[in-house]
Amino acid sequence: MVYGDNHVDPVRLFDPQHEVPPADALDLHFPVPTSLSLFGDAVARTPDMAHLLPKLGQVYENVLLATVVQVQRVCGYVVHPTYGQRAAARLAITAISENSVPNESIMRIHGHLYVGRTATSLADGQQHPVNLTWLRQFVRDVWTTYLGKLEEATSEEFGLVWGALPDNHPADREIVEPPFAPHVAQHAVPNAVVCPGRYGPLERVLADHQWRIGIAESQVRVQAERRQAG
Ligand SMILES: [Zn+2]
Repeated sequence: MVYGDNHVDPVRLFDPQHEVPPADALDLHFPVPTSLSLFGDAVARTPDMAHLLPKLGQVYENVLLATVVQVQRVCGYVVHPTYGQRAAARLAITAISENSVPNESIMRIHGHLYVGRTATSLADGQQHPVNLTWLRQFVRDVWTTYLGKLEEATSEEFGLVWGALPDNHPADREIVEPPFAPHVAQHAVPNAVVCPGRYGPLERVLADHQWRIGIAESQVRVQAERRQAG
């Protein structure tokens, strides 16, 4: 396995203007921290700031496009009869950003990355099944990069300051300036606010949820190591 051999451009899974995803496509769900949606709401409601709304949309689109590249690099592997479980492949991905979720009173900015269940092996050019075990596990790395880019881009563009909230995990970042924090808890329903998407039921992979599972696992590991050392 040579690092970087799947650093290719993914192909588009479908054209959202005229097509729908295949029925077996995966829906990788990328929400934003609640405070960023609250910021979006505040911008939309304030006449002096309304001009920032298209800019926020553009910033988010850019982060989502960068995330497509990350998914390809981190998760672009198929299970191949000759080359094994991690054969480099070119994924098929279509990204769609949305800013509302049915039955939610506030803005809920999020992205769907629709990923084809099969991908083109870079070794033989044939379609093989995407390694879903790998994808589900390592989408958490994509999530971390996504959050970092979101924080960087919105700090740069809007001067937002991000940090950890007192009751949250240190890596669970929210906007702390302007102070949306007091409102975050009120609107936070972790893992409950998941957009069903516009294409009917598809198998979903919740990027943030996978990341939280990873944190919980590593905490268990650290505790076990401490017990052994003690
Ligand atoms: Zn959606």
